[in-house]
Parts: sequence; C-alpha cells; structure tokens
Amino acid sequence: MNDTPAARAAPVHAPMSQFGEAGAELVVGGMPLSRLAAKVGSTPFYAYDRGLLRARVAELRAALPPAVKLHYAMKANPMPAVVGWMAGLVDGVDVASAGELKVALDAGADPAEVSFAGPGKRDAELRQAVAAGVLVNVESARELAPLAAASQAFGVPARVALRVNPDFELKGSGMKMGGGPKQFGVDVELVPALLAELARLGLAFEGFHLFAGSQNLRAESICEAQQKSFALALRLAEYAPSPVRFLNLGGGFGIPYFPGEQRLDLAPIGANLAELVARARSELPATSLVIELGRYLVGEAGVYVTRIVDRKVSRGQVFLVTDGGLNHHLAASGNFGQVVRKNYPVTVVPQGRRSDAVEIASVVGPLCTPLDLLADRMALPAAEIGDLAVVFQSGAYGASASPQAFLGHAPCAEVLV
Ligand SMILES: *Cc1c(COP(=O)(O)O)cnc(C)c1O
Repeated sequence: MNDTPAARAAPVHAPMSQFGEAGAELVVGGMPLSRLAAKVGSTPFYAYDRGLLRARVAELRAALPPAVKLHYAMKANPMPAVVGWMAGLVDGVDVASAGELKVALDAGADPAEVSFAGPGKRDAELRQAVAAGVLVNVESARELAPLAAASQAFGVPARVALRVNPDFELKGSGMKMGGGPKQFGVDVELVPALLAELARLGLAFEGFHLFAGSQNLRAESICEAQQKSFALALRLAEYAPSPVRFLNLGGGFGIPYFPGEQRLDLAPIGANLAELVARARSELPATSLVIELGRYLVGEAGVYVTRIVDRKVSRGQVFLVTDGGLNHHLAASGNFGQVVRKNYPVTVVPQGRRSDAVEIASVVGPLCTPLDLLADRMALPAAEIGDLAVVFQSGAYGASASPQAFLGHAPCAEVLV
C-alpha cells in the first residue's frame, strides 16, 4: 500500500491519459511517437492531435447548455492549420490583433462570428476590422473616433461591444485580467458615458465582453465570476442604446500543469450556465451568451517533442540535454507568468529498446542560460542519447509565446496530426 503520510503528501501530475500507447510508446495523432518524429523529419517539434481537439469541443458541448456559444480565443494557438480546424468546430473565433484577424479570416471563420479584443488597437487595425465586418470589443474611449471614421468611410456602422473592466476579480486565477486598475476594458464606472457616446457616433452596439482571468481550475470561482458578470451586464444593459445581442462571459477554464492539480469539473459550470441561460431568456431576451476559451480547447491536445543530444552527470545529478528548450517553450521553463517554477508533465520515450528503468534527471535545453530548464529533477524513464523527451500540456501558449530567436537556434516545426 502506497498510503504512507509521505506518499499522500507528495503531489503528482494528473495522468496524461488523453494520448494512447502502442507497444509502450506514446501515440500522437494515431501514430507512435518515433514514427511521427520520422514523418516530421526533424526535432524539435510541436504536434497537435486533431482527434483530441474535436473530442474536447464535443465534451464541452455535452456539458454546456446548447444555447451558449463557444468561441476559440486563437492567441492560445494561432497555427493557421489549428485555427482552420478549430473554426470548423466552434461557433466563433476571438482575435487580438490584425495579424490574428487575417489568420482567422483566411481559415474561413465567418466574420459575423469573429470578435476583436485587445488594448492598443491601432487605427489601421480598427479600420481593417470594420472593413471585414467583425465585432470590435472596445477597450478604450480612444477607439471610438477611428471606428466612427471607418464607419463613415465604408457606409456601414462599426459593430461594437464594450469590454468592461469589472469591479470584481476571478478568484484563484493564474492570470487576473479584470478587476482593480487594469489596461484591459473600460472601468464599469465609465461605461454609461461611453455607451451614450458610441450611440451619438452612430456605431452599432451589440453587447458586452467581460474577461476576468485565465488558467482557473476552480469551478466554483468560474461560476461566481459568471454570475457576477451576468449581474453586471444586467445593470449596464439599462444604459445600452439598443438591446444587448451578445454577452461574452469570458472563460478562464484551466488545465492541470503542475503536481497536485486536477482537471476542471465541467458539470457545475454547465449547471451554472444553464441557470444563466434561463435568466437571460426573461431578463435579456435578445441576448446570446458566449464563452471564449483558448488554453482549455487546445492545451491538452499538444506535445512538444525534443531529442536528447547529450547526457551528463554533474556531481551526481543527471542532465539530459535536448535540442530544444525555452526558445520554443518558454512556459515549460517557468518563465511565462509562473511565480514559483514547477515542472510541467514531462516524459522520456526510449528509442529502439524497451526499458522500465526509472531515474531522477533534469531535462535542459541547448541555450547557454540556467533558465533553460524543461524538467527539474523529475523521475523519468532512464534515458540515452537519441531518445525523445516530451513535454505534455503544450498545445497552448507554446511556439507563438516563446522567444524563438533567442540564442539563434532554428525555429521549431509545428504539425497538426
Ligand atoms: C487570452 C484571452 C483569452 C484566452 O484565455 P485562455 O486562458 O487561453 O482561455 C480569452 N479572452 C481574452 C480577452 C483573452 O485576452
């Protein structure tokens, strides 16, 4: 029995059971990893599993009321093939720059279901958004004049929603993006005046957008934020120049990265949203509820795969040196928003031999900095040069959120399989 106090106290990673195994080898996209690496032709690479992406959307659809629209926040993974695949599965795509807008539209996303949020939108970006006919989530009073100018130029009123900086926070979030002083959205107190101004300018008001935070694993905190967001929208709707068509309640659904973290329970969130859908029917009858998710949709479907190029023992500690590191996967190194560095789920996939041996080893990348650490003294399958080292939970905030030029190594490949 492994029920000693020490065993109970030692937190472990949630099982990465989303991927199958064949002959003790990890299967990604229906292929054993060694063959997939051969197909890609070089390491390091990211691989995203289409079947897992589709299954995740299906799981959400089953748990959430059908009336809630599901959007993909593409900054989590902007690879064009992924955006194209996701656009066919979800109800809309949320973009945060003109560059992302281009990828979404190229991927075939319906402009009527694309929204554009983010601080510091340039006048040219706002003009592109109006020309494209997408919804602009206004983050600042400064955006109204260029939106009005673009409306005049094209003879169609800009479609706008107001992103509101609420007077509450999403408790227990990895990153807080609402409440208190923030660069995101318009403070609640200023919303009535801004609504009057956008009506005066002839912009087409469509709704409100609230996004309180990211990477939350506590269903009750997410439900609480959704309840508070709904109540706030109800209050603000009294000042709206026309009926609220969309209420984007944000998202923030997290995935387990670190030892001791468990997968989010969708059931209470589904029940909470069902209650809000029922309330919206009577209190905001023209309104569709929207949630926007990035990480939760794509994070668990991706792996980052490197090859071990050296194995060193320094004063008793084993170092597995791989051909890729923080230059491709900043988050796994602990340098993307972590306060205390913890290990992502990592494994070693032996190549050309079967072995059950386990050892304590650190996995480091090839960069000449101690920050380039993918796993710090983890129990891993005993590794040899040529084996593959895999970082799980890598489908979100990976390649595009990493400093690929740092140290001048080649950029990594990405495949959708
Ligand atoms: C980043 C972001 C998201 C996606 O957050 P995830 O944690 O990846 O789900 C959604 N909406 C807005 C406004 C964002 O800035």
